[in-house]
Formats: sequence, C-alpha cells, structure tokens
Amino acid sequence: MSEAGMVIVGGGMAGARAIVSLRANGWQGPVTLVSEETLLPYDRPPLSKAMITDEKEPAPVSLLDESMIASLNAVFVRGARATGIDRKAKALVLEDGRAISYDKLLIATGAKPRRLAIEGGELAYTLRDFADGDHLRSRLRASASAAIVGGGFIGLELAASARKLGCAVTLVEAQPRILMRGVPEEIARVVHARHLEAGVTMEVGTALRAVRTDGVEMADGRKVEAEIVIAGIGAQPATALAEASGLALDNGIACDATLKTSDPDIYAAGDCCSFPHGLFGEKRIRLEAWRNATDQANVATANMLGGDKPYLAVPWFWSDQYDLSLQIAGLPGEGVKTVRRAVAERAFLLFHLDHGGRLVGASGIGPGNSIAREVKLAEMLIGRRAAPPPEALADPAVQLKGLLKA
Ligand code: ADP
Repeated sequence: MSEAGMVIVGGGMAGARAIVSLRANGWQGPVTLVSEETLLPYDRPPLSKAMITDEKEPAPVSLLDESMIASLNAVFVRGARATGIDRKAKALVLEDGRAISYDKLLIATGAKPRRLAIEGGELAYTLRDFADGDHLRSRLRASASAAIVGGGFIGLELAASARKLGCAVTLVEAQPRILMRGVPEEIARVVHARHLEAGVTMEVGTALRAVRTDGVEMADGRKVEAEIVIAGIGAQPATALAEASGLALDNGIACDATLKTSDPDIYAAGDCCSFPHGLFGEKRIRLEAWRNATDQANVATANMLGGDKPYLAVPWFWSDQYDLSLQIAGLPGEGVKTVRRAVAERAFLLFHLDHGGRLVGASGIGPGNSIAREVKLAEMLIGRRAAPPPEALADPAVQLKGLLKA
C-alpha cells in the first residue's frame, strides 16, 4: 500500500474502535480519523440515562483520550465535515476544501435522529450527541412536565430518567404498542407496566397533530401540556457522504458480508452500514447498537488490511429503565415459535425458534443483571446455529451451558 494509509470518517463508537483495531491488527502506517464533532470520541449510552439523572455536572465518557490517540499514533481531525469522496484520486474531501488521501476508507458516520414531520415538529428536542444530552438534562431539570414522543428505547429511557427527576411524563407512541421494532410483545408489556407503575401516562396508538410551545396536540384534539417536548422516533442512517460519492445504498450504505461498500477501497461500519447477515440467511439488515458498532469496526478494519472475513456477530442490544434491564440477542422477529423460561422472580427469557427449530433470537427482562448471564449463553447458542430442544430451553433446571456443550 501507498503512504496514504487508513482514513476513518466518523468519530463515534465505530470510528474510535477502528483506530484501536487497526493497530491491534498490526497496521503501522498512517491512520487519520475525521470527525464532525469537536469532542473526542465518547460513549453514547449514558446520554439518555446516567447523564440526565446524575447529580454531578455531566462530562463526556471518553472512548479515546488525547494520550491514547497519541500512543496509537493517529491523526485526529475534529470539527471537520467530510462532504465528498474523490474515488478516482482516493481522497476524502472536507468542507473546508482539504483532501485527505486514503488507501482504504472506513465510513462510520452513524445515524441522525428523525424529526417529527408535523406542525411544530421542529420544536421537539431530539437526542443524539453530548450537546443534545447536556441540553436535555438542564431542560428536564427545570421542567415540571415533559411530553415524550416515541416508545422506542430512547423515548422510554428518557421517560424513566425524567420520572427520576420528578417530571410528570406523558409518553406518546403512534403504534398500537411500545417497542414494536424488534422487541417481543410479552417483554414490551412488562416495560409498559413498569412505566405505568412509575407514574408515566402512556398514550399508545395515538397520533399527534402538532407540537406547540406548551405541549402537544393529538390527532383526536386532546392536548397534553408539557414544558418540554422530546421526540425519540428513530434514526436515519447518515448516508449523505456515501450518496454524494455514488456508493450503493440500501437502507444505509450497502455493504457485502465483509462490510465492503460498492467501492472495493471503501468499507462501512456501525449505524450507517447495511449488510447481509450470514447467520440469518443473508438477510440484509442494519443495526443501531453499541455492540454492533464495536464488532463491525473490528471486522471492517481487519478486512481493510487484506482480510476477507464475513461479519457474523450475533446482534445484541440492551436497555436499562428504572430497576429493569432488557436484553435482546439475535433477531427475535426471525422466529416463528417462542419458548418462555423463568429465570428468577420478575425475570424471564423468551427463546425464538425458526421453522427448523433453530434458535434465532433470545430476549429477556428482569431487575438488575438477573438475565444477563442467560442471555449471554443464548447469544452463544445463536452464534453456533444451535437447535436446542424447546423443552430444555423452557426448563429452568436445565443449564443453558449444558446445551452449549451438546
Ligand atoms: P429510537 O432509537 O429513537 O428509540 P426506535 O425506532 O426504536 O428509535 O423507536 C421509535 C419509536 O417511535 C417507535 O416505537 C415508533 O413507532 C415511534 N414513532 C415513530 N414516529 C412517531 C410519531 N410520529 N408519533 C409517535 N410515535 C412515533
């Protein structure tokens, strides 16, 4: 390879991990990370939880600090937006006109919050970066009431955080139930009940007409007064750069199983990357998850250095709300049969089996870390394409570890 080296665009979890992984894989040439954000890479999961509720002044939880970046001998270009890729010249073009040459480029641009496309929608706050979180923190602390739109992980975590601060919370979800995307109904019911118990007013199956400066107005004319309105209605992959450069898109930047885009010198990882998953019949998916960002950065960088490794990691998500922790491994939606397993008081797992009896997903909920170990074992079973007997999965006396050995 030339002396141009490896260039990464996007300074989130995937971008930060990629630098570490390139060095861990033995790459000694130049590494450049270009990030639109001015902060050093930081962890996003606390933004909806601890950062809002903790008394102490918020500070970003750094993934890479200056000394780590220096010891990795990486160049970090921050506060710089990449606007194009000159694929012929193999250079990343920045808004200010600079061009950064690459041998291989990794796009890890993440996702952007969707905005409410209704009257006054721009009045609703969204959460993506540290500044958003910091802002929400002070606004929630100064408000007696909040209307939160969207019953996905972000909306629900923010609802729990706002309740902890003593805010009166109304959560509005357009679908007939919360967590329709990827979370089984039985688990969603537990989450819903926990929010009711915490005093959240849950409005499911409710369409909104408008956001006002003093709350929201529903399609049926009812009004919810709120000092702050927040939208957590999903995210869109940040594909502008890829699109401007003529890369193939398909619900994100279209990659192959090795996370290579339609240009053999450009890879993608994290929230912006869509790829065929070999564990699920090459179904094309895109995952917005912390673990996926890490795992994909590892695989993409190994492949940028000449590897040909398919990405086969088992999807894994978690969410903490109040005392409850919810975890999902695999793709529950790919299952056609569900088996329930009691783990402890108020803690259970659901196993999702496909037509052939293969375990394709597991979801669990319970207080604290009650379900973590069982979900971890289920994740390993999914990764091995195991088809454990449903009776064994359902029986808490049968150790999952034993099924792993079988
Ligand atoms: P996030 O990561 O923001 O939590 P999800 O896609 O997991 O994203 O969840 C977003 C939730 O918001 C979904 O449950 C979806 O049905 C809901 N939603 C989307 N648009 C609207 C809307 N206009 N009004 C109310 N809820 C909405």
